[in-house]
Amino acid sequence: MNLLTNKTVLLTGGSRGIGYAIACKLAENGANIAFTYRSSVEQANALKAHLEGLGVKAEAYQSDASSFEAAEQLVKEVLETFGSIDVLINNAGITRDNLMLRMQEADWDVVIQNNLKSVFNLSKQVLRPMMKQRKGSIINMSSIVGMIGQAGQANYAASKAGIIGFTKSLAKEMGSRNIRCNVIAPGFIETDMTGELDEKTKENYLSNIPLKRMGTGEDVANTALFLASDLSAYVSGQTISVCGALNC
Ligand code: NAP
Repeated sequence: MNLLTNKTVLLTGGSRGIGYAIACKLAENGANIAFTYRSSVEQANALKAHLEGLGVKAEAYQSDASSFEAAEQLVKEVLETFGSIDVLINNAGITRDNLMLRMQEADWDVVIQNNLKSVFNLSKQVLRPMMKQRKGSIINMSSIVGMIGQAGQANYAASKAGIIGFTKSLAKEMGSRNIRCNVIAPGFIETDMTGELDEKTKENYLSNIPLKRMGTGEDVANTALFLASDLSAYVSGQTISVCGALNC
């Protein structure tokens, strides 16, 4: 399928995990990919080469999504190189888990800055170019934890719930400009992020997932493809859970 031929996608956090899977899936559908990473230089270069091998244009940018200035510079560079940004995917995210009694102020601040402020930073920069194009799709990566909460993740859950409110508001503001904004809320997906969890926590999660398996990056990427493409032309302000029915 070539659902995204000649479209440019700007994706944060493409070097690993869910972002990596999204970059590959969208490139397989013809999209040119500008993706960011924070520190994984080797993985980023390998992904760029892989995407180019699929016959699309690809660039890797070492750019901290939590910095407003870096986001401004990034979008400028991407527009110079690619000419347009048709789809923005705010995927970059981190965890600093701890029970509230032990959570430090710094754990709160860094998670809000990286997970929520980053979504503001990048969205703010792409709105004007998307308005000029009279079209755009913004996809923000939340989590079912932002919908149902999780002990030990108050900072992460707050950041991910904030993303949902932000997205619904932006969808209402920008609908008349044909800019759609949606949320993906993954459940328990096999990546480095969940690799950090201990076996007991993993087993506990698994036993509660009706589909009886962890999700894959590709499961999430398929939903990103839908939301990035015209298949979802009348879908905006929505949160799609990709979680094996964990949250119902
Ligand atoms: P991951 O494997 O830890 O990968 C995170 C990616 O984000 C990496 O590419 C990392 O770059 C990048 N990144 C982190 N902070 C960044 C920053 N400030 N600026 C630019 N890039 C940054 O995570 P993942 O599991 O794929 O998660 C991706 C997204 O899905 C996150 O928003 C996460 O909260 C969300 N999510 C994940 C799950 C899950 O089960 N895995 C569930 C629900 C939601 P480097 O490689 O350079 O570090």
